[in-house]
Amino acid sequence: MRAIYLALVHYPVLDREQQIIPTTVTNLDLHDMARSARTYDLTGFFVVHPIEAQRVLAERIRGHWTEGSGGKRIPDRPAALKLIEVVTSLEAMGEELGRRHGVAPELWTTAAQARSTVTSYREGRELLSSDGPPVVLVFGTGWGLAPVVLEQATVRLEPIVGRGDWNHLSVRAACAITLDRLLG
Ligand code: SAM
Repeated sequence: MRAIYLALVHYPVLDREQQIIPTTVTNLDLHDMARSARTYDLTGFFVVHPIEAQRVLAERIRGHWTEGSGGKRIPDRPAALKLIEVVTSLEAMGEELGRRHGVAPELWTTAAQARSTVTSYREGRELLSSDGPPVVLVFGTGWGLAPVVLEQATVRLEPIVGRGDWNHLSVRAACAITLDRLLG
């Protein structure tokens, strides 16, 4: 089974006007996605932010639930939150994973709209069951991943579609559904 990671990208992502912005780290995103990553036995969870103060905030959230009072109060939480690794960029994450695994990872992106050819979850499951380089499931914030990130993807997963035409899942919900469709 391939090593599988999550990445939550806070830059470069889009705003409502499709401009490229940085977003702020959200405690709930880190908490929920770490718990989903642990539940599906992922190898790790990268939180990507170029701004140091935001990385400090992410590390503080991680520390609260691993060594701090949160982890003491709810003893099963450290196992999830310790999956978090805070990095400056997807490039830095890729270099780290290259060192760790001896091969560059594949980026598998997610989005609410398909902007190019996409890979189905069924095909994704098959790809994950074969041997290969580590896979990073990349999730965005704001109004989604910037095109420059989508262009780096080896796999662009198909959008999750519910019923009707309203489709604005939170990144936390999109992450959980994606993991269950690929690994559940
Ligand atoms: N703060 C926002 C929130 O949590 O509601 C940020 C999330 S947002 C809407 C954008 C990200 O969520 C996308 O980059 C993608 O990773 C994921 N996402 C949202 N809707 C999705 C869908 N229908 N299918 C796949 N991924 C989706």
